Amino acid sequence: MQQQANAIVQTLKSKGLRVTPQRFAVYANLLSRSDHPTVEQILIDLNKDCPVSSQATIYSSLQALREAGLVREVLLEEGVSRYDANIDAHHHFYCRCCGAIEDIPWDTFQSIQLKSLRRGLSAETYEVTVKGVCDSCDGSVSKGTGNR
Ligand SMILES: [Zn+2]
Ligand SMILES: [Zn+2]
Repeated sequence: MQQQANAIVQTLKSKGLRVTPQRFAVYANLLSRSDHPTVEQILIDLNKDCPVSSQATIYSSLQALREAGLVREVLLEEGVSRYDANIDAHHHFYCRCCGAIEDIPWDTFQSIQLKSLRRGLSAETYEVTVKGVCDSCDGSVSKGTGNR
Protein backbone atom coordinates (compact mmCIF):
# COMPACT_ATOMS: atom_id res chain seq x y z
CA MET A 1 0.00 0.00 0.00
CA GLN A 2 2.79 2.39 0.96
CA GLN A 3 4.65 1.20 -2.10
CA GLN A 4 1.66 1.98 -4.24
CA ALA A 5 1.42 5.44 -2.70
CA ASN A 6 5.04 6.09 -3.55
CA ALA A 7 4.47 4.90 -7.08
CA ILE A 8 1.56 7.30 -7.47
CA VAL A 9 3.61 10.20 -6.16
CA GLN A 10 6.41 9.31 -8.57
CA THR A 11 4.02 9.09 -11.48
CA LEU A 12 2.52 12.50 -10.73
CA LYS A 13 5.96 14.03 -10.39
CA SER A 14 7.22 12.42 -13.56
CA LYS A 15 4.46 14.23 -15.41
CA GLY A 16 5.48 17.51 -13.88
CA LEU A 17 2.43 17.71 -11.65
CA ARG A 18 2.59 19.19 -8.22
CA VAL A 19 1.44 16.49 -5.84
CA THR A 20 -1.56 17.75 -3.91
CA PRO A 21 -3.67 15.64 -1.57
CA GLN A 22 -6.62 16.04 -3.93
CA ARG A 23 -4.74 14.98 -7.03
CA PHE A 24 -3.27 12.07 -5.16
CA ALA A 25 -6.65 10.97 -3.82
CA VAL A 26 -8.41 11.31 -7.15
CA TYR A 27 -5.72 9.44 -9.08
CA ALA A 28 -5.46 6.69 -6.45
CA ASN A 29 -9.22 6.30 -6.52
CA LEU A 30 -9.31 6.01 -10.29
CA LEU A 31 -6.46 3.51 -10.33
CA SER A 32 -8.27 1.33 -7.83
CA ARG A 33 -11.40 0.96 -9.92
CA SER A 34 -12.29 0.07 -13.46
CA ASP A 35 -15.90 1.23 -13.59
CA HIS A 36 -15.24 4.60 -15.26
CA PRO A 37 -16.82 6.77 -12.56
CA THR A 38 -18.29 10.23 -12.97
CA VAL A 39 -17.08 13.18 -10.90
CA GLU A 40 -20.03 12.60 -8.57
CA GLN A 41 -19.11 8.98 -8.02
CA ILE A 42 -15.51 9.85 -7.25
CA LEU A 43 -16.72 12.51 -4.82
CA ILE A 44 -18.93 10.04 -2.96
CA ASP A 45 -16.07 7.58 -2.73
CA LEU A 46 -13.49 10.08 -1.52
CA ASN A 47 -15.78 11.64 1.03
CA LYS A 48 -16.19 8.29 2.72
CA ASP A 49 -12.62 8.60 3.96
CA CYS A 50 -12.25 12.30 4.51
CA PRO A 51 -15.20 14.56 3.82
CA VAL A 52 -13.28 17.53 2.52
CA SER A 53 -13.53 17.16 -1.21
CA SER A 54 -15.88 19.20 -3.28
CA GLN A 55 -16.94 18.49 -6.80
CA ALA A 56 -15.01 21.53 -8.00
CA THR A 57 -11.71 20.39 -6.52
CA ILE A 58 -12.15 16.90 -7.89
CA TYR A 59 -12.97 18.33 -11.25
CA SER A 60 -9.87 20.50 -11.30
CA SER A 61 -7.72 17.56 -10.18
CA LEU A 62 -9.17 15.52 -13.02
CA GLN A 63 -8.38 18.27 -15.51
CA ALA A 64 -4.76 18.38 -14.35
CA LEU A 65 -4.46 14.60 -14.52
CA ARG A 66 -6.04 14.59 -17.93
CA GLU A 67 -3.76 17.26 -19.30
CA ALA A 68 -0.81 15.27 -17.99
CA GLY A 69 -2.06 12.24 -19.89
CA LEU A 70 -2.67 10.11 -16.81
CA VAL A 71 -6.42 10.00 -17.03
CA ARG A 72 -8.77 10.10 -19.93
CA GLU A 73 -12.29 11.21 -20.29
CA VAL A 74 -14.76 8.66 -21.61
CA LEU A 75 -17.87 10.00 -23.26
CA LEU A 76 -20.30 7.24 -24.06
CA GLU A 77 -23.51 8.83 -22.88
CA GLU A 78 -24.60 12.23 -23.97
CA GLY A 79 -23.60 14.84 -21.45
CA VAL A 80 -21.95 12.40 -19.04
CA SER A 81 -18.20 12.56 -18.52
CA ARG A 82 -16.60 9.50 -17.05
CA TYR A 83 -12.99 9.03 -16.17
CA ASP A 84 -10.56 6.23 -16.77
CA ALA A 85 -7.04 5.75 -15.43
CA ASN A 86 -6.44 3.05 -18.01
CA ILE A 87 -4.69 5.08 -20.67
CA ASP A 88 -3.56 2.12 -22.73
CA ALA A 89 -5.48 1.67 -25.94
CA HIS A 90 -8.65 -0.27 -25.28
CA HIS A 91 -12.27 -0.47 -26.27
CA HIS A 92 -15.40 -0.18 -24.16
CA PHE A 93 -18.52 -2.16 -23.57
CA TYR A 94 -21.50 -0.08 -22.53
CA CYS A 95 -24.49 -1.75 -20.90
CA ARG A 96 -27.68 -0.02 -21.96
CA CYS A 97 -29.52 -1.35 -18.89
CA CYS A 98 -27.35 -0.35 -15.95
CA GLY A 99 -24.96 2.00 -17.71
CA ALA A 100 -21.92 -0.01 -16.66
CA ILE A 101 -18.82 0.53 -18.74
CA GLU A 102 -16.26 -2.19 -18.97
CA ASP A 103 -12.89 -2.25 -20.69
CA ILE A 104 -12.39 -4.50 -23.67
CA PRO A 105 -8.78 -5.48 -24.40
CA TRP A 106 -7.41 -3.85 -27.51
CA ASP A 107 -6.64 -7.13 -29.29
CA THR A 108 -10.21 -8.39 -28.99
CA PHE A 109 -11.01 -7.05 -32.44
CA GLN A 110 -8.50 -8.11 -35.02
CA SER A 111 -10.04 -7.21 -38.30
CA ILE A 112 -10.84 -3.53 -38.33
CA GLN A 113 -9.55 -2.28 -41.65
CA LEU A 114 -8.66 1.36 -41.48
CA LYS A 115 -7.43 0.97 -45.02
CA SER A 116 -11.02 0.70 -46.17
CA LEU A 117 -11.74 4.29 -45.26
CA ARG A 118 -12.46 6.41 -48.29
CA ARG A 119 -9.53 8.10 -49.86
CA GLY A 120 -8.74 11.45 -48.30
CA LEU A 121 -9.40 10.39 -44.73
CA SER A 122 -6.30 9.59 -42.76
CA ALA A 123 -6.95 7.71 -39.57
CA GLU A 124 -5.01 8.54 -36.45
CA THR A 125 -6.86 6.75 -33.72
CA TYR A 126 -10.07 4.88 -33.17
CA GLU A 127 -11.80 2.86 -30.55
CA VAL A 128 -14.79 0.62 -30.57
CA THR A 129 -17.80 1.04 -28.31
CA VAL A 130 -19.88 -2.08 -28.04
CA LYS A 131 -23.37 -1.46 -26.69
CA GLY A 132 -25.47 -4.20 -25.25
CA VAL A 133 -26.45 -5.84 -22.01
CA CYS A 134 -24.00 -6.98 -19.36
CA ASP A 135 -24.23 -10.30 -17.54
CA SER A 136 -25.60 -8.83 -14.33
CA CYS A 137 -28.52 -7.38 -16.29
CA ASP A 138 -28.91 -10.37 -18.56
CA GLY A 139 -31.51 -12.08 -16.41
CA SER A 140 -33.79 -9.07 -16.28
CA VAL A 141 -34.11 -8.46 -20.00
CA SER A 142 -35.42 -10.64 -22.76
CA LYS A 143 -32.94 -13.15 -24.01
CA GLY A 144 -32.46 -14.59 -27.43
CA THR A 145 -30.12 -12.11 -29.01
CA GLY A 146 -27.53 -14.71 -29.83
CA ASN A 147 -25.16 -16.44 -27.52
CA ARG A 148 -21.54 -16.05 -26.63
ZN1 LIG B 1 -25.84 -3.98 -17.02
ZN1 LIG C 1 -11.78 2.18 -20.17
